[in-house]
Amino acid sequence: MNIILLGPPGAGKGTQSEYLRDTFRLTKLSTGDMLRESVKSGTELGNEIKEIMAKGALVPDDIMIALIRDCITGDAGKNGFILDGFPRTLGQAAALDEMLEEEGKELDFVIELQVDDKALIERIAGRYTCGECGAGYHDTFKRPVTDGQCDVCGSKNFKRREDDKAETVGKRLVAYHEMTAPLLPYYRDRGMLRSVDGMADIPHVTSELNALISNGKSRAAG
Ligand code: AMP
Repeated sequence: MNIILLGPPGAGKGTQSEYLRDTFRLTKLSTGDMLRESVKSGTELGNEIKEIMAKGALVPDDIMIALIRDCITGDAGKNGFILDGFPRTLGQAAALDEMLEEEGKELDFVIELQVDDKALIERIAGRYTCGECGAGYHDTFKRPVTDGQCDVCGSKNFKRREDDKAETVGKRLVAYHEMTAPLLPYYRDRGMLRSVDGMADIPHVTSELNALISNGKSRAAG
C-alpha cells in the first residue's frame, strides 16, 4: 500500500505518518527528515540545502526527485510507503507518477490533512523533538508524560527546528499555497484525493485516517 499525506507545514503529516507506518507496516519517507540529515553531513550540497531551508523556500525539484527515487525503486519500497512532504510541486508529482509506472507500483491513497493557517502558526511554534530518538512533542498538544523527559528513550535532550521560527513559518506557508496547494486539484481531478479534518486532536485524526484506509478506496471524496 502506497500513501501520500498532503497538507501545509504543521498539519500533522509527520505525527500521523508515524502512526500509519506502525499500524500498516509501511516505510515512512519524510523528505524533510532526509534533507535535515543531509544538512548534518556538512557537504557542499548539504550547506546549499541548509540555506534554502532556512529561507523557508523549496529545494529544487531535480534534487528532490533524485532523493526520493532511490527510496521507492527496487526493493526499497516493496512493502509500501507513506510519503510525508513529497511531492510538493506539480513537477515532483509528475516525476513520481513516472517512477511508479516504471516500477509497476500505484498510489492507493492521497490524503489531505485540512487545517487553517492561524492554527498552523500555533502548532508549529510549540513543537519540538527528542534530540536522541526523534520522538515528536508539543508544548500544548503533546507533552511528555514526565516533564522534560522523552517518553520513548528517557532522554532529557530536546530540540526545536531552525525553520520553525515565526519569520520562516510565514514563508513556508506562502511556498505551500503557491507551489504545493495546486497538487490538491491535480489529485482531485483524477478521483484520488481524500480529505481528513486535521483540526481535530491527534488521536481523532489518527482514527479518521485508520477508518479511511481500512475502508478502502470506496470512500473517495470530492
Ligand atoms: P518539512 O519537514 O516537510 O516541513 O520540510 C522542511 C523543509 O525541507 C521545507 O520547508 C523545504 O525547504 C524542504 N523540503 C522538504 N521536502 C521538500 C520537497 N518535497 N521539495 C522541496 N523542498 C522540500
